[in-house]
Amino acid sequence: GNFIPPIKSNGGNTGNVTTRVAGKSDDASDDSAKRCLEMLCGPDGELPEKLRNLEPRLIEHISNEIMDRDPNVRWDDIAGLDHAKKCVTEMVIWPLLRPDIFKGCRSPGRGLLLFGPPGTGKTMIGKAIAGEAKATFFYISASSLTSKWIGEGEKLVRALFGVASCRQPAVIFVDEIDSLLSQRKSEGEHESSRRLKTQFLIEMEGFDSGSEQILLIGATNRPQELDEAARRRLTKRLYIPLPSSARAWIVRNLLEKDGLFKLSKDEIDTICSLTEGDSGSDMKNLVKDASMGPLREALKQGIEITKLKKEDMRSVTLQDFEDALQEVRPSVSSNELGTYDEWNKQFGSLS
Ligand code: ADP
Repeated sequence: GNFIPPIKSNGGNTGNVTTRVAGKSDDASDDSAKRCLEMLCGPDGELPEKLRNLEPRLIEHISNEIMDRDPNVRWDDIAGLDHAKKCVTEMVIWPLLRPDIFKGCRSPGRGLLLFGPPGTGKTMIGKAIAGEAKATFFYISASSLTSKWIGEGEKLVRALFGVASCRQPAVIFVDEIDSLLSQRKSEGEHESSRRLKTQFLIEMEGFDSGSEQILLIGATNRPQELDEAARRRLTKRLYIPLPSSARAWIVRNLLEKDGLFKLSKDEIDTICSLTEGDSGSDMKNLVKDASMGPLREALKQGIEITKLKKEDMRSVTLQDFEDALQEVRPSVSSNELGTYDEWNKQFGSLS
């Protein structure tokens, strides 16, 4: 008779995902939603038209989980990719900074696709764009829309574009965009995911034709899955390849940041030749593992971790990298690279 439900009842509104996941009381959640709405109100204290019919909890989720007011990445943090940086500066950053000049013939495209192997800096570029153009950054993973927000993705997409239009200039970064705009018409394709895709395309169409300062960046490791409608809206399509000489930069930069860099030019060259085919993210993992070398050695000599002095530890050596290479393997196969090259030739923006 004393049954206590595991989830606090929400006044009959059992669909309140945010409240349940965050485990907050309804009052706290209501307060937070209220604050988010207040921040989006215009000078007249009124909520902008676009947000009026949206559920406050969705707006709250966008404001708290998806919106990043100050993405902390700058161009200088990204190794290599000079071609992509140049294109993006011209197509995206200048127009966001000077909308008065970039109109008419010069009006920019509103959709950019970054494609290439995983871990090559696509998300970093998205964040850097927002940082350099002083825009609000919205990050959403398309697969979370289709898995976590089952049945609600459509509403969330509307809220996302609605909040972005109140936070201009804005950059909406959609990771794994292929899972949202895929060309596969599998028999199992749910009605809800078809509606989600339609809603997304409608929203894109909406800001593409208007004077809004919103840019949509899609990132994918599987560009071949995108359909024609998606390609048409993502007018600029940039290949973000595996790093070549940038691998040395990543090693040097990460070690220097921690004051651990003591390698010679020859040693760096050797590390580069041993890491052919590694992505930026593989390199980061390699540096992490190699930087544990001096620590592991000290502990092997019987020094207790609590008594270990930082200044007594030796610097990171080539041998540490060679040991780490036994653990960290490249995450991209050469077969996959061929697919990217072909798609780039067919659909990529080569200039
Ligand atoms: P993607 O979005 O292409 O899968 P990310 O941008 O998330 O890859 O990169 C993952 C991590 O790998 C970054 O946080 C960064 O530490 C490292 N990385 C990848 N590419 C680069 C690069 N070009 N310059 C510096 N770091 C990089």
